[in-house]
Amino acid sequence: MEKIAIYPGSFDPVTNGHLDIVERGLKIFDKIVVAIMCNPTKESLFNIDERLEMLKTSMHAFNTHVEFEAFNGLTVDYADERKAHAILRGLRAVSDFEYEFQMALMNRRLNREIQTLFLMTGLRWIFTSSSIIKEAARFGGDIEDMVPQIVNEKIKEKFAGIQSRQ
Ligand code: ADP
Repeated sequence: MEKIAIYPGSFDPVTNGHLDIVERGLKIFDKIVVAIMCNPTKESLFNIDERLEMLKTSMHAFNTHVEFEAFNGLTVDYADERKAHAILRGLRAVSDFEYEFQMALMNRRLNREIQTLFLMTGLRWIFTSSSIIKEAARFGGDIEDMVPQIVNEKIKEKFAGIQSRQ
């Protein structure tokens, strides 16, 4: 039987830290579904289609082992629908731990069949987050080393567009 995990997140935008987790996850699972959580209360820089495009382009090399989709509703319900055995999450510093721990316990209450699996990020990506990248890029900071090439391009376009409208 194919071992499937879902990797839920905002991916606004995808970073090298996310790629690192998928690469590690593929050593355990046959397939990873990278799933964008549609959260209407969370403000985003990129819309769902833009985020999906950046994910697909940057993870092209993983081929059919990775799928991409956006979903609404409970993560455990989506995991069930995709016949996934696990929810994959990445851990950076200690600061991620408390929130992730609460979320994993809540998800286990909601569905005892689905396990949450945490993978430690590579040391290089310990301080990389989508929000830090957006902050730096907004003020012209160089983020090239931290994101896939397509993200570097799209984020520059995005902020150039926003500035020209101001
Ligand atoms: P969320 O909005 O749920 O925090 P993100 O898109 O920021 O979603 O991240 C999705 C998952 O990837 C989370 O488990 C997060 O901890 C993990 N992640 C984000 N950045 C990194 C990184 N640099 N290294 C490892 N894991 C990461």
